[in-house]
Formats: sequence, C-alpha cells, structure tokens
Amino acid sequence: MAEIYYLDNNATTRTDPAVIEAMAPYFGEKYFNASSIYSSAQYVRKDIEAAREEAAKFINADPKEVIFTSGGTESDNFAIKGIAYANSDKGRHIITSKIEHPAVLETCRYLEKNGWEITYLNVDKYGMVSPDELKKAIRKDTVLISIMYANNEIGTIEPIEEIGAIAREAGIYFHTDAVQVAGKIPIDVKKLNVDMLSLAAHKFHGPKGIGLFYLKKGVRIHSISQGGHQERSKRSGTENVPAIIGMAKACEIAGEHLKDTAGMAEIKALRDALEKGLLEKIPDIIINGHPEKRIDNTLNVCVKHIEGEAMLIHLDFDGICVSSGSACASGSLEPSHVLLALGLPHEIAHGSIRFSFSKYNTAADVKKVLEVMPGIVEKLRKMSPMWNERDKK
Ligand SMILES: *Cc1c(COP(=O)(O)O)cnc(C)c1O
Repeated sequence: MAEIYYLDNNATTRTDPAVIEAMAPYFGEKYFNASSIYSSAQYVRKDIEAAREEAAKFINADPKEVIFTSGGTESDNFAIKGIAYANSDKGRHIITSKIEHPAVLETCRYLEKNGWEITYLNVDKYGMVSPDELKKAIRKDTVLISIMYANNEIGTIEPIEEIGAIAREAGIYFHTDAVQVAGKIPIDVKKLNVDMLSLAAHKFHGPKGIGLFYLKKGVRIHSISQGGHQERSKRSGTENVPAIIGMAKACEIAGEHLKDTAGMAEIKALRDALEKGLLEKIPDIIINGHPEKRIDNTLNVCVKHIEGEAMLIHLDFDGICVSSGSACASGSLEPSHVLLALGLPHEIAHGSIRFSFSKYNTAADVKKVLEVMPGIVEKLRKMSPMWNERDKK
C-alpha cells in the first residue's frame, strides 16, 4: 500500500495497540456475560467496574455517574431526549447553538417536530457562543442547555465553565458534547458545572462503537432503553465488554499523554507549522476558528475560489487523508453549517479543508502537505471560473 498521511483525527483516530491488546482476552477466554452468577462471569463484572473507575477518573466523576453507551451520538441523544421526556411537565424549551454536531442538532430538530421549542444560539466569527446571548435566551420553560465543549470542524473551545455557572444559577440542566476535547484538554466535570457530558472512545485512540455518558447524581432523566437493567437501568443491554475495557485503556493512556507536556506540545507545533506553511505558500486563504481558544490539533482553512471536495480528492491521490467541512455533512452540496454560522459566504465556505492531528503524526505529514497542496490549489484555481472572475468584482 502507498504511504498514508492521516490528518483526519477529528473524524476518527487509530486505535492504540495497547488498547487492542487490553481488549483481546474479552473476545477470547473472558467471553462471559457479566450479569451471570458463576464466578467466571463475576470476574468480568469486576473488570467492567474497574474500567468504570478508570473512565470516571479521566473526567473527575464518581464511577456511579458513568454510563457506557455506543458512542458520541448515543450519548448526545440520551442527554437531550432523556431530559426532554423526563421534564416535559416543567417545560418544553431547549437552548443549543448553531454549530453543534449533527448528533445534537438533528436530535433537537426531531424534538421540534414533536412539540418542543428550540433556540439555536448564534456564534461570533470565531465560533464562540456568547454567555450574554445565552442568558437572554433563558425562559421559564427552559429545561436544558446543550453546548459543545469544542467544535469538531474548527476546533473553537466554548466557555463551558461560564455557561455551566449560568445554567446552575437558573436551575436548568446543562449538557456538553465533549467528544472533541477528550485527550486534548483535561476534563473535570466538577469544575465545569455540567450535569451531563458525552465522550466517544474512537476520537482518542480507543475502539469505535463505545462511548461514555456522564450523568450527575440526581438528574431527572428518562432511560435510553428498557430491558435487563444494566447500567443502573438507564441503558439496558448486555455490556460490550471488550469495548468497555478498550475505552478504559484509552482513558488511561490519554490521561498520561495529557501530563506529557512535550508530547502535547508536539501536536500543536505540527499544526502550527502547517498553518504557517500554508499561509506562506498559498495566497487568498482564511484560517477558521478562534486564534487562541482552539484545540491544538485542528486546522480549518478556506481556500478561496475553489471547492474543498476537489482539493480533498487531489490530496487523496497523494495519500493525504483530510476532510472538507464535516465528515457527516459530506455527500451533500450544502456547505458546512458551522462555517455558515461564522458568517462566511457560501462560496468561501465551500472551499474548506480540515486538517486534524494526533500523537501519531510526524513532521513528514506536514512536509508532504506543504509539498503538494500549493500545486493542487494552483491547478484547481486555473480551472475555476470564480478565480478567473475574481478581479472583475
Ligand atoms: C464524532 C463526534 C460525535 C459522534 O460520535 P460517534 O461516536 O461517532 O457517534 C459527536 N460529537 C462530536 C463533536 C464529534 O466530533
């Protein structure tokens, strides 16, 4: 196989070999159902509870506040529908933002069709939610605020602690989708004032199909599934043991990596080198997202007068894996809802490319992009009517 330059770590990450190793016995000799009574199964139960402790430690929660789910999407659905259904006697108004992941936005739209009212907060040109705007949007019948911790497309980090304090004072439940933050910034649910938080293991070198839902003690929520009473009856179904063990290992490794300042700095240095190099080598580009309050691994650029998809395909010929707009939005011709919310015009938002790094990237990845991308842009611009018309406007 030709060389791959993987710069799409906000879509998914490579599973750490140590995670795969930790999972393997649970496909093999430790295959028992943790709900069974015999001792072989009870050892598996103990391993699940040890994994819960490890996952809880990662976000500074109590193990009893950790529910294992199938990933980010399920955790987001759980928070929003679970709160909406359990608190509809109090009110049917929810506040979120325009730049949330589809797992949040589509769940809100679904509720909207079923009698709930949703306020979608605007963001500024960097993708920041304004705490003042949020305060103004709060009503007597507001039951939930859901704002993401960091945006998956542009990396902007939202003022979650401040929003959490506002929600607490108003007595409204607060959920944050922290999927893009895990392994990038330490997460402390107590400091953040959150009632619920979503994580997905595959975004931080864990396996796919497993996630964490932090549910603070005392929150009034509906169960996501009824059945055999697993996960304290909140999410019934036989536990995905190998994946749970794998996620716990990924939490442990990510926790260690967060303390490794040199390792963390290297990811940022690679991202910054790519940003600097692109600005030097390609005229007429825009960097999206907040200049400082941005997760260190993410670089989103708009290359004016050409299409992101065309660039993506040409980069792929050279083995470079990136994303245009968001992976979940690709396949449609609409530009990214996130970039539009920043106020970018359609024709500029169409030219977006997202590079996202992980601990597995090296300087060779940056070098390769800087070698091939200026030529690709030049070639595409020559063919672009928008580029040839640009001076006549
Ligand atoms: C990837 C992602 C999700 C979805 O997580 P899955 O585990 O793939 O369902 C949700 N929110 C954000 C911000 C994401 O980046």
